[in-house]
Amino acid sequence: MRSVLILLAGALAPHLGAQPVKPPMPGFDIAAMDTAADACDDFYRFACGTWLKQNPVPADEPRWGRFNELRDRNLFLLREILEEVSEPDDAGDAVQAMIGDYYAACMDEPAIEARGAAPLDTLLDAAAALKSKADLPAFLADLHRRRIAAFFRFGATEDFKDAAKIIADVDQGGLSLPDRDYYLKDDADAKKLLDKYVAHVAAMFRLAGADNAKEKAQVVLRMETALAEASMDRTARRNPDNVYHIKTLAELDALAGAFAWKAYFQASGAPAFDSLNVSSPGFFAGLDEQLAATGLDDLKTYLSWQIVRAAAPLLPKRFVDENFAFFGKALLGQKEQTPRWKRCVRRVDRHLGEALGQEYVRRHFPAEAKERMLELVHGLEAALAADIETLDWMTGETRQQALVKLKGISNKIGYPDEWRDYSGLVIERGDAFGNARRASAFEFARQLAKIGTQTDPDEWFMSPPTVNAYYNPLHNNINFPAGILQPPFFDMALDDAVNYGAIGAVIGHELTHGFDDQGRRFDAEGNLRDWWTAADAKAFEERAQCFVDQYAGYTAVGDTRLNGKLTLGENTADNGGLRIAYMALKERLKKNPAGKIDGFTPEQRLFLGWAQVWCQNMTDEFARMQVTSDPHAPGRFRVIGVVSNSPEFREAFGCGPNQAMAREESCRVW
Ligand SMILES: [Zn+2]
Repeated sequence: MRSVLILLAGALAPHLGAQPVKPPMPGFDIAAMDTAADACDDFYRFACGTWLKQNPVPADEPRWGRFNELRDRNLFLLREILEEVSEPDDAGDAVQAMIGDYYAACMDEPAIEARGAAPLDTLLDAAAALKSKADLPAFLADLHRRRIAAFFRFGATEDFKDAAKIIADVDQGGLSLPDRDYYLKDDADAKKLLDKYVAHVAAMFRLAGADNAKEKAQVVLRMETALAEASMDRTARRNPDNVYHIKTLAELDALAGAFAWKAYFQASGAPAFDSLNVSSPGFFAGLDEQLAATGLDDLKTYLSWQIVRAAAPLLPKRFVDENFAFFGKALLGQKEQTPRWKRCVRRVDRHLGEALGQEYVRRHFPAEAKERMLELVHGLEAALAADIETLDWMTGETRQQALVKLKGISNKIGYPDEWRDYSGLVIERGDAFGNARRASAFEFARQLAKIGTQTDPDEWFMSPPTVNAYYNPLHNNINFPAGILQPPFFDMALDDAVNYGAIGAVIGHELTHGFDDQGRRFDAEGNLRDWWTAADAKAFEERAQCFVDQYAGYTAVGDTRLNGKLTLGENTADNGGLRIAYMALKERLKKNPAGKIDGFTPEQRLFLGWAQVWCQNMTDEFARMQVTSDPHAPGRFRVIGVVSNSPEFREAFGCGPNQAMAREESCRVW
């Protein structure tokens, strides 16, 4: 397979369009509300109605919400940093030079056009040169090193039952679409999308210079569909028992002997090990059958597709455009390509997040923010402790254990104490493709080097500029990157009530994850261990089922309903999180009493603060993708799902018994 090198000198001069404008700081906004709506009939409309009308999804996005406003602003701030440090005469240090060179190379479209498909061809030629299936393990290890996602994933994980230890882990993978459902559903929408997918794969093969592109695309679809059939679905994967299977290498061979695992692990550069976690044994049995039954040519076709797909975003424009036509337009309903600078800033964040993050926190994360945040976290922890102590469905023994677990939760705020060391990673101007592959290889090696070592509780799994937060059940800690500690989540200029409803509820949400359907299975040390009495576990399950049924009743798009089981953990965390934020606010108000602001009581402002975080519009395609593959419910349901369970909300807004936001059968776990 060969592609033609096309020189387009001058045809693609650097984009001289308008410079991006700094987006305003988003924040809690009374004008975003629609007070013509009745808060007790539709609180989402009441809190977000005007914002929703004034903020349709921009053409270059699939979804637009308050999160996106903040992410957009962060991207702009990161761009400012990157534009500065990428100036050739910038006197920055080695870390700044690295992020500057990465960004400059990514933005250098003329250089990318000039190299054409040459970087791709090296890999495609290697795939074409495979002589027999015996060559597959070493080749696959090389692809995985470059983060090309063929067949399965290999990495490092905490041992669920001994979380202080890091072990090797193989997991299902190899799909190009976001979920197995995309291959297996047979409604008209799903079929139409698969047709577009096959046409896209063929178009990409043609761009890469392959012949028989149409037939090759059918091979890809057939093989990925078989992988999808063997894959465990997301709901089943929520149960940690389902994805924890320690096997010796001999047992892995017995499960999937058509593949030379030892040769693969050796070629990957992983340290030697005797046993590992096989997350999804059924998948590997299916993969084994597929590898045994598939001819070498078809295997090469599938591998070539994975190579082209992974490479496309950093190849010349014709590849980028075709990639967008499917993965942006058809799959997500995004009308226009995201501006290149945003794509490049995101890439730097993905590949060099803790290098870019150093300058970001220096400029944009004040020390006071960390102090105020710590205060909030302690308030929320105290509220959850009070909640656990007074729950009527939990008995003494389990309650004691729950409090031990809560006390054991540590918190990380802003950014790591010690920055990750990127030395040894080569980043070159003029080599966008090579930089991405080398950065992937660097990260793959970092992951594999952990195998056989002790867990590092100080490691971060999100970069500092990230607008998000997480609870890690295996480390039993909550993590809040600097990126989320800004308005509309966290606003030092605003009243406590709004802050408790926004970042307070986010803290409560992360803490509650330690006690959702998944988190409750792990103990204070992060080990998968059952610390529940049978009766308390049963009481939990019954209460959780109430959430499953409630959210499964919500329709996201067309006739597609939410998956109550897939979203259970997040919905439990939202409901518990806002409740303890309310409790913490009440404590705070005892010391710092507050009156009405803008005509709303502190209690009302707490609920408004929560709701306004979730104002969002999205394309139908995006909504379908979210319901299929995301454990988070769309914003509207994160608001009405929670407030309609809340007696405190009813009281705050004076809702009558028959109103939509006052559900008769309201659910509660925490
Ligand atoms: Zn969550």
